[in-house]
Amino acid sequence: MITSVSIDKNEILKFYKPIAVDTHKGIQGHALLIGGSYGKIGAVCLSSKAALKTGCGLVTVFIPKCGYEILQIAIPEVMVLTDAKKRCISNISFDFQPNAIGIGPGIGQHELTQKAFLKFLKTNTTPLVIDADALNILSQNKAWFLLLQSGSILTPHPKELERLIGKWTSEEEKFEKTISFSLQYNVIIVMKGAPTHIIDGETIYKNTTGNPALATAGSGDVLTGIITSLLAQGHEPIQAAILGVYLHGLTADIAVSKTGIQSFIASDIIDHLGEAFLSLE
Ligand code: AMP
Ligand code: MG
Repeated sequence: MITSVSIDKNEILKFYKPIAVDTHKGIQGHALLIGGSYGKIGAVCLSSKAALKTGCGLVTVFIPKCGYEILQIAIPEVMVLTDAKKRCISNISFDFQPNAIGIGPGIGQHELTQKAFLKFLKTNTTPLVIDADALNILSQNKAWFLLLQSGSILTPHPKELERLIGKWTSEEEKFEKTISFSLQYNVIIVMKGAPTHIIDGETIYKNTTGNPALATAGSGDVLTGIITSLLAQGHEPIQAAILGVYLHGLTADIAVSKTGIQSFIASDIIDHLGEAFLSLE
């Protein structure tokens, strides 16, 4: 039976807890963000900075070599691991255990990256957020979805959703197909849009924050960082998805009276995360 839930402040406060006073960075969660390719390193800069500003203790990125200086200079708080290749990811390897992994922002679809992603999925046991071209790669090889751990979070925008579930002719059909996909592969699907819906099997969560200011380059990359950070901090996958989408929208609602809709950019989401968190206290 399909259940619909509206995500407002009351729903969020049912599970949201401020950070404990005796925490330290070692137990506050370590997020790993994998992505970037030549010309698209900015996507990982946005995701990793958003992850930090969402409260996890440590953030590492795994990017192609060409992004090393860019990331270290743009965000000194982030640790950087690089692939052997300069322009794209060709072999995903790291020697620590992250609490959550976000993969996809700026990653591109190079053949080497596709192979590296499949190899990684075969052995990965860490909770995943999958976005952008990582989703597009999976959509071309649907059997690979069977490799995902249950509770993995997919974050398609409408075009990415179409590649995932096929075309739809009505809103009703879109929801039916997304629910079937979520049930078949045991994944949570964040159907990004205006508004965003989160599908967890037969439960549909409808977000109530956000506005057209979010229709801007890098907006989704920021969301991936936020959700990955919440997952790394120990939230259940569905809570990480709901809280992440709610906070992401709330930043835009808080910011537009200062920035205007036209001049709001993805970095403004990151800059207003603090005010969004404060409004929950
Ligand atoms: P992406 O297309 O991956 O950059 O993601 C865009 C993000 O902005 C998603 O979280 C969308 O839900 C959000 N977004 C885009 N347009 C709107 C809109 N008109 N109203 C509210 N949120 C939007
Ligand atoms: Mg995107």
